[in-house]
Amino acid sequence: MKAYQEMNRGELTAERAALQQEFDGYKAKGLKLNMARGKPGADQLALSMPMLDALNSGSDCKDEGIDCRNYGELTGIPSAKKLFGEVMGVSADEIIIGGSSSLTMMYDCMSRAMLKGVLGSEKPWGKYDKVKFLCPVPGYDRHFTICEFLGIEMINIPLTEWGPDMDLIEKLVADDETVKGMWCVPKYTNPLGGTYSDEAVRRIAALKPAAKDFRIFWDNAYAVHHVYKDTRLLNILDECKKAGNPNMVYMFGSTSKITFPGAGVGYMAMSKENVEFTAKQLNAQAISWDKLNMLRHVRYFKNADGLRAQMDKHAALLRPKFDAVLKALDSELAGRGAGRWVKPDGGYFVTYIAENGCAKRIVSLCKEAGVVMTNAGATHPYGKDPDDCYIRIAPSFPTPEELSLAMQIFCVSVRLATVEKLLGA
Ligand code: PMP
Repeated sequence: MKAYQEMNRGELTAERAALQQEFDGYKAKGLKLNMARGKPGADQLALSMPMLDALNSGSDCKDEGIDCRNYGELTGIPSAKKLFGEVMGVSADEIIIGGSSSLTMMYDCMSRAMLKGVLGSEKPWGKYDKVKFLCPVPGYDRHFTICEFLGIEMINIPLTEWGPDMDLIEKLVADDETVKGMWCVPKYTNPLGGTYSDEAVRRIAALKPAAKDFRIFWDNAYAVHHVYKDTRLLNILDECKKAGNPNMVYMFGSTSKITFPGAGVGYMAMSKENVEFTAKQLNAQAISWDKLNMLRHVRYFKNADGLRAQMDKHAALLRPKFDAVLKALDSELAGRGAGRWVKPDGGYFVTYIAENGCAKRIVSLCKEAGVVMTNAGATHPYGKDPDDCYIRIAPSFPTPEELSLAMQIFCVSVRLATVEKLLGA
């Protein structure tokens, strides 16, 4: 097969005409397919239905003597701290179990830092003329939305499959005390799919920031979400302790993609000192969270092994969908000089990296043919991907039939956009 870059103008023009015809055929079908967000499929949601029966009218709603039907226990019930502490690799006094969303906890942490500061702050972050956050890219759009909403300036840091550009990070944090923190999705990075290497984790834990109240927002959303391979990630809190930075990290997680998104359990893990400091701040916001939901999760899973067994079932349901996406990319695009892609070990996304300057056009062609993709640019702060090349493919929600059709349309759109670009159209 000849790569598009090796074709002459005549060949490219013929290819464009053939692709346009194929594309118009799909368009005429009037399809409505969505590959935009990483939602679990209906089969995955069905896995957790027995959890709804874990508590019923006859159940004992007590957890170590605590009546979960009533107010109290602002930082969560003991059995949930134990279970999710084990999942996060921390002890029960190093975790806060909150409401039903880790993203809400991240937003709240950031806004409390802006309004009041974190443990060790000389003044609230919001009192500085400018506060900056480091953002490994491609990254998770909703992290960037939090910063943009709160007026925190974002600095792009190139991310590889094995971690962010540490040389650049070390330099930026050492030089500027208004660089207050960084985002990390360390395992099955959203959306690249790799896991931070031991070296990357150790160098992050050992940072020497000019800002004494620097915080790493370690969003371990996919801690147990393997698809092909259960990779090992070093425990950042342990590494921070070893490096003499025990309070520098906030770790986040939730059961959104373990049980029910939006109706699971969210948690944040951190040093005991940070837990105590944060609990005092939280006291102004809440009396307690939904302890019945925490108890329901604990009774259903019983222990971390129970939770891991459920994740094996999720992986078995997700694998054929990831296979279908990768197979389509391999068979339709490999060797054509039309971008590249990363086979992830786990998580929820396959990242497709288009030829520079093609991503927006591909997403818009897909939309024209009835396939909604995540906006090009969503992987970067302010929605601006400087090379216009990253597209996040979310295979989990569509049925296998929808997925295979959507991928055919995606691949034709990729080819058409690439040829158009080369023709200067
Ligand atoms: N972090 C990352 C990296 C995500 O991909 C998602 C979406 N599942 C979230 C956080 C949102 O988590 P939650 O539902 O707990 O708010």
